[in-house]
Amino acid sequence: MLTYALPDQTLRKAIESSAHAQANLCWTCSTCDSECPVYLATGRLRPQKIVRMANLGFLDDLLSLPEIWYCLTCKRCNYVCPNLVKPASIISFSRQEALRRNLLPWDMFLRYRDFFSRFQRVRWHTAEQCLKGDMESISHELWCNWLDTPIAGSKGEILFSNLSPSKAFKSAADHSSSTACFTCGECGNACPIFFERSVFDPQWIFRMVNLGLEEEILKSPSIWLCLACQRCTEACGELVSGHLIIRHLQELALEEGMVDKDFPFRSKNAQRAIYPLYIKEINSLLGFDPV
Ligand code: SF4
Ligand code: SF4
Ligand code: SF4
Repeated sequence: MLTYALPDQTLRKAIESSAHAQANLCWTCSTCDSECPVYLATGRLRPQKIVRMANLGFLDDLLSLPEIWYCLTCKRCNYVCPNLVKPASIISFSRQEALRRNLLPWDMFLRYRDFFSRFQRVRWHTAEQCLKGDMESISHELWCNWLDTPIAGSKGEILFSNLSPSKAFKSAADHSSSTACFTCGECGNACPIFFERSVFDPQWIFRMVNLGLEEEILKSPSIWLCLACQRCTEACGELVSGHLIIRHLQELALEEGMVDKDFPFRSKNAQRAIYPLYIKEINSLLGFDPV
């Protein structure tokens, strides 16, 4: 016999008053699903489902949902929703509440954070492989190696006297006010993927742009790691549009042939190789049953 769960209006209001996600405006179009990088690569983590659960007031189910820990916090679901619903805000609220209620013990959370930081190394290597050619699979040994080995910083000598950034490069920098950066580091504090400078540091990228290190930055795997979450832009007191600088760099790398035109397709395919392993690792770390 089928049973139906009734919406819990009290819990629904409680979720909304904390998450401020405007969940009631969702018309279940799935646009958020179709932009979520984790969903696209694995079929897991549907932001629409999370909004639906919030709308029904299913708080306990939401807090124990493994998917809230798969989220990269890129906020793409928020940005694409035609009704200005914010699925990422529900996820953020659910994580905080799960921690507050000790549903996820703090030491487990620290292990999760450590894994998430090391996962950025895997993303860096994946981008590097895709810059060279196809990457359709990854062995368990390579996955562990990439996770556990820090990426060495560049040791190459840079002759500043030889620098002559192109007009397009200078214009990309000018359009995003990069020269206003006084290297305070607020962007790095806000960036969800900044853990190691050799992997990804927004301030470092903006510095390289201002110094005119065109070739180094346009050929770097790091610029392809940005999640476009816009937190750096929101955090910058000098109104530097960090996410736009990085987007311009990506466009320029393709336009100027520093990266071949098939790179985005190879990169998309490679996400299907790494994200299932990412989910498997989180399930194992946090004790979720594999599906
Ligand atoms: S994009 Fe917005 S309206 Fe569409 S399913 Fe997602 S949250 Fe709902
Ligand atoms: S914040 Fe990003 S990863 Fe998380 S659900 Fe939204 S689109 Fe997916
Ligand atoms: S948009 Fe800014 S804060 Fe977000 S991932 Fe990119 S550099 Fe980091």
